[in-house]
Amino acid sequence: MPKGNTPAPDYVILPESGLRLYLPRGSNHVPAEVWVPYPGPIPKDWHAIAEAKGFAIHSRIRDKFHLCLQCQTCGALTAQKVFTLRTAQPACVACQCQAREDLAQAAGLSFLHRDPSNRHYGIFRAPCGHKISRQFAFLERITAGEVAHRCEYCLEDRDRAEAQSIGWNLLCRDPDDANYRIYQHSCGHVQRVARTNMHWGQVDCAGCGQSWTSRPSNIYLLQLTWPDQDQPWIKLGFSNHPEKRFRHQLGLAEDVDVDLLRNVPFETGHEACCVEKKLHATLREAHPDQVVPRPELEDRINVVSEVYRPDRLQTILTLFDRVVTKEAS
Ligand SMILES: [Zn+2]
Ligand SMILES: [Zn+2]
Ligand SMILES: [Zn+2]
Repeated sequence: MPKGNTPAPDYVILPESGLRLYLPRGSNHVPAEVWVPYPGPIPKDWHAIAEAKGFAIHSRIRDKFHLCLQCQTCGALTAQKVFTLRTAQPACVACQCQAREDLAQAAGLSFLHRDPSNRHYGIFRAPCGHKISRQFAFLERITAGEVAHRCEYCLEDRDRAEAQSIGWNLLCRDPDDANYRIYQHSCGHVQRVARTNMHWGQVDCAGCGQSWTSRPSNIYLLQLTWPDQDQPWIKLGFSNHPEKRFRHQLGLAEDVDVDLLRNVPFETGHEACCVEKKLHATLREAHPDQVVPRPELEDRINVVSEVYRPDRLQTILTLFDRVVTKEAS
């Protein structure tokens, strides 16, 4: 098996005839000049075996152990051992290549070449333009709809942009924990931060003491409607990025309807957090029957509290407008 970054070719061009000869993986390091015609008769029974296995014998090649087989399906030539022909089902490498390209296309990628370091992997061009390495079995799972393609380079670009927008520079991954990254703050301090905390802007700098709670935030009121529920639920919360928080951070399924009823900006996350807590306390005290209990939230939303039934929506709205608007102004 060749190692390194140069992928072994799937075929060689035969020097004398100019024909394209496909090579099985075990032989794809053998250079074109080795595949010369080998003189000698082709025993009759070989033809019969080849035909039964979907090939015709084109010629003998290289040495007494090898044959050049022509695929009855695609017409391409593949080098195989006589032994393989006699004892196993030889593969048409050209048909395999085509199947690989078809699989990549069905998965929304374009196949570039095999991964020389691992035969289960290929190198592909993603729709975004990035070159990515993927397991062929993973592509099958994409086409089966089990997983979705996601480009790790685009993800990193997004991580970098998100960090930059709040004054942090993404340096590298944390070698000890896949959920963490190493960032440098605009003050120069280098710090390890959970990727998701950076995503939501919830980062304090231990170098200069700047706190995420001192950055602008919002208190929001959402109406969430599940297709299998008679009535919607009301979610109250605060977020630095309300528009992003809803679906992703709350872990809501695609079929949940999300209606933003209120969104009030605050100058700092600290203020928003205090007001939000006050509001929850008031609601819990005044309308305990309207609080959705924790077991009901499981499987639907990523929070354990802060969700209310809409029976007294008008009361909640009034309270929200009174408390939040007063505090915000
Ligand atoms: Zn073929
Ligand atoms: Zn990408
Ligand atoms: Zn700092």
